[in-house]
Amino acid sequence: MTHYAIIGSGITGTTTAWVLRKKGYDVTVFDRHRYPAMETSFANGGQLSASNAEVWTNIGTMIKGVKWMFTPDAPLLFNPKPSWHKYSWMMEFASNFRNYKANTITTTSLAIESRKHMTAFAEEAGVEFNRENRGILHFYKKQSEFDHAHKVNELLAKGGLDRKRLTPDEVYQIEPAIKSKVIGGYFTESDFTGDIHKFTVGLAQAAAEAGVTFNMNCDVSDIDHDGDKPNVSWTDFNGARHSASFDGVVVTAGVGSRDIAARLGDRVNIYPVKGYSITVNMDDAASQAAAPWASLLDDGAKIVTARLGDDRFRVAGTAEINGENYDIRADRIAPLTRWVQENFPGISTENVIPWAGLRPMMPNMMPRIGKGKKRGVYYNTGHGHLGWTLSCYSAEAIGDIIHSQHNQ
Ligand SMILES: Cc1cc2nc3c(=O)[nH]c(=O)nc-3n(C[C@H](O)[C@H](O)[C@H](O)COP(=O)(O)OP(=O)(O)OC[C@H]3O[C@@H](n4cnc5c(N)ncnc54)[C@H](O)[C@@H]3O)c2cc1C
Repeated sequence: MTHYAIIGSGITGTTTAWVLRKKGYDVTVFDRHRYPAMETSFANGGQLSASNAEVWTNIGTMIKGVKWMFTPDAPLLFNPKPSWHKYSWMMEFASNFRNYKANTITTTSLAIESRKHMTAFAEEAGVEFNRENRGILHFYKKQSEFDHAHKVNELLAKGGLDRKRLTPDEVYQIEPAIKSKVIGGYFTESDFTGDIHKFTVGLAQAAAEAGVTFNMNCDVSDIDHDGDKPNVSWTDFNGARHSASFDGVVVTAGVGSRDIAARLGDRVNIYPVKGYSITVNMDDAASQAAAPWASLLDDGAKIVTARLGDDRFRVAGTAEINGENYDIRADRIAPLTRWVQENFPGISTENVIPWAGLRPMMPNMMPRIGKGKKRGVYYNTGHGHLGWTLSCYSAEAIGDIIHSQHNQ
């Protein structure tokens, strides 16, 4: 049987493994962690959100970003320390301003497509992941932000998304738990939320039962190509080195993909854009009653939320341009906890779990899904701020590309 190696068992690797196995391939997944979904797919914002498909490659975002550099607690933190990768990536990011509209429209339609596949995968694999079908509510406190949202809405509509504009009363009707003063909102009924970690782990279990091999605790330390096939070398938990050749390889290694691609002669210019989340464990009935069920996006604070069952409330946001740095900084977590207290004072923030993850972001903010230069080399990576939303579409897409090569 044709044998594919998949490097990375986050959401992109696990969904790719699932699709390739269903198509009848032999699949071996490698990950440096002991379990799937231990990096960026661990505790993200939880939103399956076509309504958040706006790409960030926009002059307005850049101007805001520059202002935020001088504001403590701002949603963006930039470490100016010189690094060739950082500055060259930012130049390429700026060169993509011209593609802002087209990429937002495309991302919207891919996200809509992806949500359907996610529903199908969860049903086929029998995965429970605290899915909540209560839509995503964007709310606004400043007129300039609401005005920008109207323009974004035109692009989302071109991508096929039905998003309803709301008066403040309608915002409070949809989510009575919101107590702060808002000037309006947008509601996307078709968007939903869930726990990315539960979904990925559940799908990995189902994939293993279907015959996928998971080589965990295996750090892919090298990869080369003999002209015909890729050869993967890895170091296991005990430090022993191994290598094996495969008919093909799919790189789904998140922020590790750039380095692996370079070894294969491909340029996949992913930069790690750090974000933070808190998971508020709501152990008491009063907190549970005070927490919203609709998923929220506070556009001014750039904060997203998801209710994960009765007793967990996920709040995520911020972007930090600071290299491959996994530190969880107290000063970046504090604004998230404070946001909960300000907006939902009835929720106890006594029991809060902080987390940080690195968004694998391409400078055009579009995932890299397709073939590499060498035979049998494929990529499904670089999904940036929307990897959970786009993952099931992109796994199907790379599966189709791979399958079509075999049928030529
Ligand atoms: C704060 C925050 C909030 C977010 N909120 C949302 C949201 O609400 N909705 C949404 O759609 N998206 C959201 N995202 C984005 C989304 O979480 C990511 O795009 C997605 O998780 C990336 O998945 P991945 O599989 O590409 O990477 P990862 O999950 O990081 O998986 C890559 C895997 O590759 C492995 N790996 C890497 N290199 C090697 C190597 N050399 N050898 C072996 N293994 C290797 C790693 O161990 C890792 O397990 C958010 C991200 C952040 C940070």
